[in-house]
Amino acid sequence: MQPRPSKIVCVGRNYVAHARELGNDVPERPLLFLKPPSALLASGEPIVLPAQSARVEHEGEIAVVIGRRARHVAEAEALAVVAGYAALNDVTARDLQRSDGQWTRAKGFDTFCPVGNVGGADADWRELEVVCRANGEVRQRGRGADMVFGVPALIAYISAIMTLEPGDLIATGTPEGVGPLRPGDVVDVEVAGVSATSNPVVGPEGAGR
Ligand code: MG
Repeated sequence: MQPRPSKIVCVGRNYVAHARELGNDVPERPLLFLKPPSALLASGEPIVLPAQSARVEHEGEIAVVIGRRARHVAEAEALAVVAGYAALNDVTARDLQRSDGQWTRAKGFDTFCPVGNVGGADADWRELEVVCRANGEVRQRGRGADMVFGVPALIAYISAIMTLEPGDLIATGTPEGVGPLRPGDVVDVEVAGVSATSNPVVGPEGAGR
């Protein structure tokens, strides 16, 4: 099953080592931003590098897939609204993220949200492992247990702000090891035993590729 979210809620700097690799502190509360559903991409489809950016990077992440409407959910009840988990690539134009001051453009290009199938309905989020490979080489590896804000805390925090609908995704942040994507690369994000997405990378539309 491919998720059909009404929104994709993302968490920034949710792994200590990743926050530090980009020169940032770990936030005191979850740092949220949105990706538009128009950025969604199925496994096998190409990530298109936009002409506006000179530095596009992969961010392999564990996504929480919401199973039922959730508003003001207590942390202790939060896992009851989870349908499962999916591999997600929070593709980011790093140069635009730095220059714009907020992240809508850097995170929002078409094809910037590859998502795998939904699985792991009964999985323990702390045990989930996300691995990101570029051209078969491991670039990122992280575990749910290493998140600064865990899945129940994120659901409680977000659902106190906005109603979560069935199919909505929460991208829980990326571990260290983000790196550039170039035309001809193939980038894989896998949540071990649960979900995977594999996507080729192509140059800008109209760039003669
Ligand atoms: Mg991210």
